[in-house]
Amino acid sequence: MADFDYDLFVIGAGSGGVRAGRMAAAEGVKVAVAEDRYLGGTCVNVGCVPKKLYVYASHYAESFHEAAGYGLNTQDVVFDWPTLRDNKKQEISRLNGIYTQLMKNAGCDLIDGRAEIVGEHEVQVGDVTYTAERILVATGGWPFIPEFEGREHVISSNEVFDLERFPEDVIVVGGGYIAVEFAGIFAGLGARTELIYRGDLFLRGFDQEVREFTAQEVAKKGVGLNFNCNIERVDKLASGRLQARLTDGRVLEADQILYATGRVPNTQGLGLEAVGVAQQDSGAIIVNDSFQTSVPSIYAIGDVIDRVQLTPVALAEGMALVRHLYSAGSPAVDYELIPTAVFCQPNIGTVGLSEEQARERHGEIKVFRSEFRALKHTLSGSDERTLMKMIVDAETDRVLGVHMVGAEAGEIIQGIGVALKAGATKAVFDSTIGIHPTAAEEFVTMR
Ligand code: FAD
Ligand code: NDP
Repeated sequence: MADFDYDLFVIGAGSGGVRAGRMAAAEGVKVAVAEDRYLGGTCVNVGCVPKKLYVYASHYAESFHEAAGYGLNTQDVVFDWPTLRDNKKQEISRLNGIYTQLMKNAGCDLIDGRAEIVGEHEVQVGDVTYTAERILVATGGWPFIPEFEGREHVISSNEVFDLERFPEDVIVVGGGYIAVEFAGIFAGLGARTELIYRGDLFLRGFDQEVREFTAQEVAKKGVGLNFNCNIERVDKLASGRLQARLTDGRVLEADQILYATGRVPNTQGLGLEAVGVAQQDSGAIIVNDSFQTSVPSIYAIGDVIDRVQLTPVALAEGMALVRHLYSAGSPAVDYELIPTAVFCQPNIGTVGLSEEQARERHGEIKVFRSEFRALKHTLSGSDERTLMKMIVDAETDRVLGVHMVGAEAGEIIQGIGVALKAGATKAVFDSTIGIHPTAAEEFVTMR
């Protein structure tokens, strides 16, 4: 047996890497984790957590307006961006500290610096080369911005959280999770917001009716929706403002332009080519069912393998790998029925098949839907509406998909995800007694 410095060398202390490192150390494995940027990775530093804090902020802004109908006078409410930004920074620093402690308590060696794979069992960080029986690549993703003239003037989600000044007006480019969420954050906090998406309708892949309904609700909140167009070039004006020329001939001006046009696997400078790790054209590392790459001692999980770019998926992959390598368990991760939420305003929560996918795969289906104004808004004066939708296999009565656009949709759909995983039929939903008065009870009273 060769003598290695470590049993497992993890590259990247993000969602997947931290979970795998900690779990492996708990199994008595000698683990090192190298990180060159921030502990906790994208999710903690420039992703889920700060994003959700900003979503809360924009909800507060809305709630102040709505409170008047409930007799609460909230005139002269002022939003102070530096307070939000700096409080967020403090909270993230606290989380970074917790991550450091968690890793150390678990017995992992934390190595500060950029790691490069220099052999099948060798990783270099700075001047030091470490050897390991196995190497785990968990380096995540990186924002993708297409090529166009003036690209250097725009920002990505990496920069958006710490802007010096809150923009008076902003252009958000893209039609995926990040674009829709940030359009809601900016508009909610008072910026004039235009969203630009190259296709007919944003959120490709989601249920068509959910997409249409969301567009209608997002527009009501003041986001300008510009579909079927794109940015051709961006110029910086003498005033410092940005001018965007669109493919449809229009010219828009804004303080900031946020590109949310997807994320690509973060593999630059990792040494994968030299050591022979096979990648897709996109750069995604190719792994088998056990997360093993084409080099048997090297494994990969999370966004860098580009299966499903979500934190809970990276966590599940990390846990499955450790179970497989160090406690003879199965490496299987079930990618079916992954619940997900888009934290726009109102939220989208979804699990399972869209109506279109269900028709294609199951033929005859039943669709139950309910659209209403939530009780809260009878007094708030808000014209926000809620959509709930359930897709059922006509032959087996099994629920194939559940979708919601409305307040707390993410919270509600998490529970429904468990029911779908357990194979719930429509009859099971029907026999469940509701919690009254809630919006969620609609899911057990749909007829
Ligand atoms: P990451 O968390 O990206 O971690 C990779 C780590 O590797 C990073 O810390 C990086 O610095 C480090 N690294 C890279 N290369 C090297 C190297 N050579 N040497 C040393 N270290 C290296 N998902 C959700 O489920 N819910 C959400 O609400 C959500 N919101 C998001 C909002 C935004 C704005 C973004 C950008 C993403 C969001 N995501 C969300 C996605 C989620 O953040 C990712 O799916 C998740 O972080 C992936 O985890 P990972 O471990 O694969 O990679
Ligand atoms: P997405 O893949 O969700 O969306 C990218 C968007 O950019 C699509 O609308 C795509 O259009 C568009 N696009 C791609 N290339 C171009 C181009 N060259 N010009 C113009 N538009 C382009 O990526 P995001 O960046 O929004 O987020 C990355 C991932 O992070 C998400 O997929 C998700 O997995 C995760 N995430 C999860 C969140 C959550 O769970 N709430 C929140 C934020 C991120 P088209 O559809 O036409 O291809």
